[in-house]
Amino acid sequence: MELELVTVGTELLLGHTVDTNAAEIAEAVAAIGVRLARSTTVGDDGAAIADAVAAALGRARTVIVTGGLGPTRDDVTKRAVAGLYGAPLELDRAYLADLEQRFARFRRGPMPESNRSQAEIPRGASRIPNPRGTAQGLVLDGALGTAVLLPGVPHEMRAMLRDSVVPLLAQRLHASTAAARVVRSLTLRTTGITESGLADALAPVEQELDGVTLAYLPGWDGVDLRLTTVAGDATEADHLLKMAASALEPGLGGRCYGRNEEDLAAVILRSLRAIGWTLATAESCTGGLVGGRLTAVPGASHTYLGGVVAYANTSKARDLDVPKDLLDQQGAVSEAVAAAMAAGAARRFGADAAVAVTGVAGPEGGTPEKPVGTVWLAARAGGYERTACIRFPGGRDEVRHRSVQAVLDLLRGLLGRAADQPPAR
Ligand code: AMP
Ligand code: MG
Repeated sequence: MELELVTVGTELLLGHTVDTNAAEIAEAVAAIGVRLARSTTVGDDGAAIADAVAAALGRARTVIVTGGLGPTRDDVTKRAVAGLYGAPLELDRAYLADLEQRFARFRRGPMPESNRSQAEIPRGASRIPNPRGTAQGLVLDGALGTAVLLPGVPHEMRAMLRDSVVPLLAQRLHASTAAARVVRSLTLRTTGITESGLADALAPVEQELDGVTLAYLPGWDGVDLRLTTVAGDATEADHLLKMAASALEPGLGGRCYGRNEEDLAAVILRSLRAIGWTLATAESCTGGLVGGRLTAVPGASHTYLGGVVAYANTSKARDLDVPKDLLDQQGAVSEAVAAAMAAGAARRFGADAAVAVTGVAGPEGGTPEKPVGTVWLAARAGGYERTACIRFPGGRDEVRHRSVQAVLDLLRGLLGRAADQPPAR
């Protein structure tokens, strides 16, 4: 079964809004074995919309359209597609009453006149409920094929896709005689190794992956390896993915910290919690971003005690007990200061583990010995201590972001070691 997508919105063509709907729909339909053959984007222009939808229907017979169902003058999708099907717009009195009630209940006022247009539906179309907004979805069936219209607002679109459109497509797919093919993916998350380094390490195994393709997806947090397979059903697909992941694991050399959406901060907190240890942070150039990453994880309070943002040298000395002569002799961006910051945080908070970051985030402040991007990291846990100096590429944002991931990864390495030989605290 084939499908095309038309996303509508002038803001998409201007680059003001990223077309996340296309990505979400692509992933959702692939997961049930429907092939997305093409995706087109057009502006809020009735003729362009009608053109794109007609062409898509001509090729694929089923089209999902998002956007342009709002109450304003620039929302013209419904009228354009109804015109294509030769279906006049008719007032849906039940929906109008429903809308008026919703306004009375949630917005404490009468419904604006412009919302009335949202209660008009093309004759013969069926409705897709939208629990989160005023634009209901529509399904038009006819000699042209099937057009499914959804609102552009991503969270509304997402809920309707999941609750109504995917089940509808699955049902139609089931009714067709073609053998279903399910697309499933598994992501192995790595950090601390480059894309090319990974590719070299995995080259021998990569050849032998049976029916599983591998995509390298680099980002600031590391390289995600996305394994994808197509199979007759989800169980078979998941089995293939599991086998492939096991085959790749040895080649990853411990660089893989998690799967799918798993965040490194969550992995660290889970490891610490399992052994009943607490954590503190000391941050200079990241200014609290490490603490932010940790506290974004639900349940962080079981493990994370707190941190010090010691940006100025005076704060490093006063709040983390970094010896003043160390700061004077070695400079704030140095191994000794990073280690002293971690030790200071552990002591001040009475934590079993601590991490520290101090670096030159730029664009100013670089020197020949310590150019912009130079960051010293320290981690300590249960008597073990580890430091690392990394020279990150990129601008201020990138250096700070990468530093957070790197210091968490430094602690991850240390925890693996501490787990082998649990030291006295
Ligand atoms: P609309 O339904 O066209 O009125 O869109 C309402 C909101 O959803 C606007 O803020 C759009 O920028 C956003 N939006 C529309 N289409 C998309 C899309 N394909 N991906 C992400 N956001 C979108
Ligand atoms: Mg729009």
